[in-house]
Amino acid sequence: MGVITKKIKGTEDVLPKQSYRWQFVENIMREEARNFGFREMRTPVFEHTELFQRGVGDTTDVVQKEMYTFDTKGGESVTLRPEGTAGAARAVLEHALINDGLPIKAYYFTSCYRYEKPQAGRLREFHQFGIEEYGTSSPAADAEVIALANSIFKRLQIKDLHLEINSIGCPECRAKYNEAIREYFGKRVEELCGNCKSRLEKNPMRLIDCKVPSCAEIAKDAPSILDYLCEECENHFEQVKKYLEIAGIEYQVNPTIVRGLDYYTKTVFEFVSDAIGSQGTVCGGGRYDGLIEQLGGQHLPSLGYAMGIERLLMVMENQGIEIPAEEPCALYIAGLGEAAQAKAFELVNSVRSSGLAAETDVVGRGLRPQMKYADKIGARFSMVIGDNELEQNSAEVKNMTTGEKTPLPLDDSFADKFAAVQLAEKFGKTE
Ligand code: ATP
Ligand code: MG
Repeated sequence: MGVITKKIKGTEDVLPKQSYRWQFVENIMREEARNFGFREMRTPVFEHTELFQRGVGDTTDVVQKEMYTFDTKGGESVTLRPEGTAGAARAVLEHALINDGLPIKAYYFTSCYRYEKPQAGRLREFHQFGIEEYGTSSPAADAEVIALANSIFKRLQIKDLHLEINSIGCPECRAKYNEAIREYFGKRVEELCGNCKSRLEKNPMRLIDCKVPSCAEIAKDAPSILDYLCEECENHFEQVKKYLEIAGIEYQVNPTIVRGLDYYTKTVFEFVSDAIGSQGTVCGGGRYDGLIEQLGGQHLPSLGYAMGIERLLMVMENQGIEIPAEEPCALYIAGLGEAAQAKAFELVNSVRSSGLAAETDVVGRGLRPQMKYADKIGARFSMVIGDNELEQNSAEVKNMTTGEKTPLPLDDSFADKFAAVQLAEKFGKTE
């Protein structure tokens, strides 16, 4: 045995005994997305670096510090996607999905890559479920995507997640607001972190979002974007709130939410949990009316969000929310000797064809370890085949909970007869 290669820092494995947790939340996300009329979209894990520079924004932390960018053998610069929206928007444009009619409603599951300092809830490879809706400027759409996230959290039985919403206006409101921010923070430049000093030049609004405590302290009394909204943006925000109320969704207005990516306009929101400490934002998103234009398309108002699946699972674990275990194996057949093993192999395959989970030994173990394995996997029924059973062409299938035994013929009718036995067990006997 030699030295083994370990996984890369900031990445995680999902092991076979854990994956049911992922599948459980993913299935609920898929079902809810479908109920809301969204269909799945899959885009490549890497894209031309330029796409993220244009789409996410050159001045953002993600683009400036967090991207995994490299040159290919062909000398092309490519980047592992740090988020899902840029790729989705590119695909919408490249395939002219607008011709299929509006709105375009899609969801995705993606792995994302960001060079960040790994800690609980902050990884270098993480996973998102995201929603994209293109071609609508209606506030009803803002409320629709938020309602979808809300339904998912409700079905997952997550408690104490609060929805915080804000509006960051359009480029016009933003210009005036940035001016006010520059003036306010400009007076205290010396107290700002290095990052914020450069933000003051390039992207003043982002100062509101700084997590360095001394900057956050100054930001507390900074001007509020809500005082700088133009009439249209203010109306839109009022309408979004009205629709949320119609949907019975509680929210808090938080004028300090500005979101990390450049493409946002008007509505921005986050679902935040207090259960997992500082990495508490489980879902974040908003409207990005200028994105498609920024990527070379026409004006196409759009919106969406992404949820971090690792963070969501962390919240659920901290709240002690139980995730139903996978359906156990229906039948384990132990075979004693070569001929019986071959028969067991044939029978489990017929049971599997009938849609039930069945297993037999593939390791070459004796009867005792085989039965121990049947126990470990929680098989609901077991059966032992040896020379006698082969001779009589019949064996007893045993209910592992009650100990009750039922003889079954080892012929072509086996799978059907076993299915009947396990159905009777599952739903109670009718006789
Ligand atoms: P944060 O402020 O925590 O860095 P963000 O604004 O960078 O989050 P988004 O780009 O909006 O996050 O991504 C949406 C969601 O993806 C987040 O709310 C979070 O749940 C998850 N997420 C973002 N970055 C990470 C990461 N490095 N590791 C794990 N999950 C992440
Ligand atoms: Mg971030």
